[in-house]
Amino acid sequence: MKTINSSRRRWLSGAATLPLAAAIGATSAPAHSRVLTNARIVIVGSGLGGIAAANRLSNQLDGARITIIDGREAHYYQPGWTLVASGVWPAAKTVERNADYHPAGVEWIKDHVAEFDPVGNALVTRSGQRVPYDYLIVATGCQLNYGAIEGMDVAAIGQNGLGSVYHSVDAAAATWSAMDAFRKTGGKAVALMPHTPMKCAGAPLKMTFMLADRLRQAGTLANSDLTFYSGVGSVFGVPAYNEYVINRFEGMGIDVVFNHRLKAIDIAGRRATFTTTEGAEVQTDYDFIHVVPPMSAPDVVKNSDLAWKEGPFAGGGWLEVDEETLRHRRFGNVFGLGDVNGTRRGKTAATVKASVPIVVNNLIDVIADRQTAMRFNGYTSCPLIVREGSALLV
Ligand SMILES: Cc1cc2nc3c(=O)[nH]c(=O)nc-3n(C[C@H](O)[C@H](O)[C@H](O)COP(=O)(O)OP(=O)(O)OC[C@H]3O[C@@H](n4cnc5c(N)ncnc54)[C@H](O)[C@@H]3O)c2cc1C
Repeated sequence: MKTINSSRRRWLSGAATLPLAAAIGATSAPAHSRVLTNARIVIVGSGLGGIAAANRLSNQLDGARITIIDGREAHYYQPGWTLVASGVWPAAKTVERNADYHPAGVEWIKDHVAEFDPVGNALVTRSGQRVPYDYLIVATGCQLNYGAIEGMDVAAIGQNGLGSVYHSVDAAAATWSAMDAFRKTGGKAVALMPHTPMKCAGAPLKMTFMLADRLRQAGTLANSDLTFYSGVGSVFGVPAYNEYVINRFEGMGIDVVFNHRLKAIDIAGRRATFTTTEGAEVQTDYDFIHVVPPMSAPDVVKNSDLAWKEGPFAGGGWLEVDEETLRHRRFGNVFGLGDVNGTRRGKTAATVKASVPIVVNNLIDVIADRQTAMRFNGYTSCPLIVREGSALLV
């Protein structure tokens, strides 16, 4: 626990060395002395990316006026939620305070952004405050679109065999309650992944592996029936791991069904309705289900000029950044960091870790009127838990 928390703290505070950062994610890492500037830099989002960027900027700039905007006081270690939802970790181990990670001298506006005005170099918060900036980093993460599933009620997670690790730390803990109850008897279980880009594409798989492992430990796997429904034609983006997971699922008796999207759920009746890509409807009963919602950029990004207007990332309203420099393709004083980015790169904490030095150094290059020097090489990773105590590092 101490080791995990102290390394997380070290990274968020920007203390990780530049050569290490360069090794995992950058093609060049120029060493510049601290840059003197009175620029107003606004960071939207105080999650993993926003906090790490604020710390690095504070370390590398003299005189900059840095503001973080996020209405959330708590800081969540989301990668720990799969462990909470499968009964390995207590929920409290994944909850900290944003205030403990903000660097000294950074202003924190405890509000959410309601509107971006990149033409006017300003944004407006939900309470109506207009905040002007010279440079902007958008690090708002993903939006979970549970509302797109008819009948879904996030307040019911934990009841009637309904699990969903993604919603919140409380939902992760409630998911474990439902899984723990289910494993005692076993029965029919449904797991799934959506058709949209999602954060930690490994998490739906980890939840399925852990569900099977918990049934195995309880001695109820043999009399259970597990099916994994994928919203697309694979279960993982990298072909070698896709094949590995499918083979391993089949070896454990987990059926895999492709191109099925969760359309509706009857929570009290424990029935799920999927639509196929051909438009057919398929219904299935279950005793336990793990729901993963479709995801998009937050509406505030999606509805702004900052979103892609065409191409594969336009539908989700993802941020239109260059996938190598992470600079906005149309607004040169805007950078994107983390899950909100509309690129082909993974939406993981590992990607955020590799991208933070690139965003920060390239932003400083722009401030100093230099060419942006660093390029993101697409690094990502996922510790794919396959049973309690064992993971495959993808
Ligand atoms: C169940 C689960 C398991 C995962 N497992 C792993 C793993 O094993 N390995 C891994 O590398 N990654 C994993 N991840 C993914 C990882 O947590 C994310 O990729 C990472 O947190 C992304 O960081 P971010 O800064 O982009 O967004 P986040 O950390 O989500 O932070 C976004 C912040 O933006 C704020 N925000 C949103 N909208 C606004 C607004 N309008 N105004 C102001 N602020 C706003 C939010 O309040 C939040 O604080 C997992 C995620 C989940 C949910």
